[in-house]
Amino acid sequence: MMGNCQVRFLGGRDAATYALLPDNKCLAYWIESSRDEKVNRNRLNKLALELRKEYEWASKLNSQATQAHAERAWSAISRFFDNCKKKVPGKKGYPKFKKNSRSVEYKITGWNLSEDRKKLTLTDDFNAGTFKLKGTRDLNWYTKKQIKRVRIVRRAKGYFVQFCIDVERSEPLPRTNKFVGIDLGIKEFYTDSNGEVVNNPRYLRKSELRLKRRQRRKSARVKGGKNRLKAIKKLGRAHFKVSSQRKDFAIKTAKALIQSNDMVIYEDLKVRNMVKNHKLAKSISDVSWSMFTDWLEYFGKVHGRIVFSVAPHWTSQNCSNCGELVKKSLSTRTHQCPKCQTVLDRDHNAAINILNKGWGDDRVPQGMREVTLEESRTSGRVEQSLLLSSL
Ligand SMILES: [Zn+2]
Repeated sequence: MMGNCQVRFLGGRDAATYALLPDNKCLAYWIESSRDEKVNRNRLNKLALELRKEYEWASKLNSQATQAHAERAWSAISRFFDNCKKKVPGKKGYPKFKKNSRSVEYKITGWNLSEDRKKLTLTDDFNAGTFKLKGTRDLNWYTKKQIKRVRIVRRAKGYFVQFCIDVERSEPLPRTNKFVGIDLGIKEFYTDSNGEVVNNPRYLRKSELRLKRRQRRKSARVKGGKNRLKAIKKLGRAHFKVSSQRKDFAIKTAKALIQSNDMVIYEDLKVRNMVKNHKLAKSISDVSWSMFTDWLEYFGKVHGRIVFSVAPHWTSQNCSNCGELVKKSLSTRTHQCPKCQTVLDRDHNAAINILNKGWGDDRVPQGMREVTLEESRTSGRVEQSLLLSSL
């Protein structure tokens, strides 16, 4: 498993802009070459090395960093081919030239860490120098050998360095005998099959509103003007704030859910009905949802929990008690079954359906089935009442 450790990079010097994009050179080569030349990954790698002889800037860059760029260009090209082959509808993602470089990547050479792991030195011929590292993650946990890649990224708030760390993180947790299904929403972040609701945090909603405002402001400014440039910078900072707050929230929420359940089932959002929601609200939630489910899967692996998604079809329309199809529009917030008289919050009903759907799947290991869904529900309740009495 590859872990990612991101540390703020202090130092004003332009470390990332000096990667003058072997990407683009490789891409240009691919576009200009004829069909029978058969450009492939190896050819691009070689080209990147040839560039080192031809251009001074390329020779200064660490050779592995140059190759990382060639690989990036190749993956863009092969992604495009794959999309064409699979006949993906809509745009196929024809590789584009990059206007500015936002990152430079090193593998195992070209950099060094200080003894106390608080400073990073870039040792290639650019002499970018030594930088102080500031961040919450402690690099002392890892040996230098475990660090497979070092990527320097330019973000709105300065430079960051990401360490790609090769670790097999395994921290199994004791069984809780609890299973849960979750329905991700827009107003509430999610509702689970026990009827618990986790809301979007207020601070996140606030910064998302600020982001929208700044987006509008930027569009209102004259192109090429000074004020536009200012607005772009402000917008960048707002984006940065929202994305780091989202990440924090996703990590915390996913961790809590994994700690208190042996199994978490969610909806596959890729196949979720796209017209269901307002476009903008949808695009905002999309980012948060996929970030959240990525962390769910990650913590699931680390802590030995079962996490997977099911197709969302009918999860909101069917009755979770008797299976009757109870059609409802978006505005109907309550599920009322005419057949078995079940009355539930719409999202709660959906979350139970998601859990039931997951329970019918082969991905549930035999060992889990020693506990039934009903027992899982009551074991949750027992724990809660114990908790209340101990307060
Ligand atoms: Zn029913």
